[in-house]
Amino acid sequence: MHKFEELTGMPNIHFETIYHHRLKDLGEDCKKCGLPLRSVRAKLCASCGHEKN
Ligand SMILES: [Zn+2]
Repeated sequence: MHKFEELTGMPNIHFETIYHHRLKDLGEDCKKCGLPLRSVRAKLCASCGHEKN
């Protein structure tokens, strides 16, 4: 048995799915510099300080 399956109880989950979810957690891209905001709740861009709306 795979360790991951043992931990989550979810057989057949793809690593890609988790990775994609992690990307979404970064929030939307900064409108000024294009880098992803660090979290979905971020109000400021961590890279350039641009305020999100
Ligand atoms: Zn920025």
